[in-house]
Amino acid sequence: MQAEIIVIGDEILIGQTLDTNSQLIATELNKRGIQVHQKRVIADERKPILEALEQVHPDTHLVFLTGGLGPTRDDITKQTLTEFFGGTLAHHPEVEAQVRALFAGFKRTPTEANLQQAYVPSSCTVLPNKRGTAPGMRFKKDGRYYFSTPGVPYETEYLVKEEIMPWIDQLPGARGLFHKTFLTQGYPESILARKLEDWENQLPASVTLAYLPSPGQVRLRLSGHSHSTEAAQQLVHAQEEKLRKLLGPIIFGTDDDTLPEVVGRLLVEHSATLSTAESCTGGYLAHQITSVPGSSRYFQGSIISYSNAIKQGHLQVSAADLATYGAVSQPVVEQMARAARQNMGTDYALASSGVAGPGGGSAQKPVGYTWLALAGPEGVSSVVFHFGQHRQRNILRSSLMALDMLRRHLEGYPLPQSSA
Ligand code: AMP
Ligand code: MG
Repeated sequence: MQAEIIVIGDEILIGQTLDTNSQLIATELNKRGIQVHQKRVIADERKPILEALEQVHPDTHLVFLTGGLGPTRDDITKQTLTEFFGGTLAHHPEVEAQVRALFAGFKRTPTEANLQQAYVPSSCTVLPNKRGTAPGMRFKKDGRYYFSTPGVPYETEYLVKEEIMPWIDQLPGARGLFHKTFLTQGYPESILARKLEDWENQLPASVTLAYLPSPGQVRLRLSGHSHSTEAAQQLVHAQEEKLRKLLGPIIFGTDDDTLPEVVGRLLVEHSATLSTAESCTGGYLAHQITSVPGSSRYFQGSIISYSNAIKQGHLQVSAADLATYGAVSQPVVEQMARAARQNMGTDYALASSGVAGPGGGSAQKPVGYTWLALAGPEGVSSVVFHFGQHRQRNILRSSLMALDMLRRHLEGYPLPQSSA
């Protein structure tokens, strides 16, 4: 089964709004083994909307339209859909009741324009929208189904997940696609590609591999293509073990996992607590850790020791070492981690000290030069890295690498290799 998405909105075309609706729709379809083979972004105008509908690919079974359902004059999707699918705009008392109920909740009276939302093409099935005034719509034409949802992502999310997908799940028809994404930390795609070369060469044509890099991490997506989702899943699973064997500790999770979540789960399993002492990451590491719901179970706190005075006063870093080796050095980062662990009474502590940039670099310690340390019951270890030239990326990469040091330790693997 194949799907296509038509995104309607001038704001998307001029770059004012990022199209997240098609991302949501595509994610939900791919979870179900339904391939999205085409996507278009078009203006809020009658002609492009009609053209997009007329030019739907012959192999498309499901068409998603999103946007242009607001109560104002610039939104014309509903009128244009009536023109394309036939019928007239008919009043739906249950939609009006829903609009009135929504406004009663806001302690406001709906305007005439809001009440117009109750007029819906007579050729469609109304999909009730609990999160807004514009209902979703389902049409059928030439054996193909069409779904229209409002632009507001919060409303599209509700309609797609609660109304449209459960309905699609009951449709007969082959869904022969399965994806599994393996998340890796600390190696660029060129090195991963070298490690995976032989394996990649022997992959059957029905299994494809994609490299999706982001700062410090690469997602490896394996996709299986077959006659059913189960068969496609089998194809991917048959490769999983080989891939895991080749990459070992480089893989930290799969699909929607994040490194802070994985570390959080491991800390809970080990009944262990964590604190941080942060220089170059400036609290970003603590922010990553505390972005995970339930992190209070293991995270105690952070000392953002940006200046040498705070490093000395709050983390007992030796003034002599600061003078001799500098703030970005192994003795200093190790003292930071050790003191954070002791002062905050945690099982583990992570510390960062690096040259985030763009200024402050030198020949020996260029921008991106970063020391990270892990203190634990067994002692303190540290690793030095050369990240890059870009400040925000350095902060992000330092935080992820520090988390990965703890992740590897808790999983019984050696610490990441130094890149210096
Ligand atoms: P509309 O239904 O076209 O009136 O859209 C209402 C609002 O939803 C717009 O102002 C945009 O901010 C937002 N929006 C529209 N289309 C999208 C989309 N494809 N992805 C994310 N947001 C969108
Ligand atoms: Mg619009």
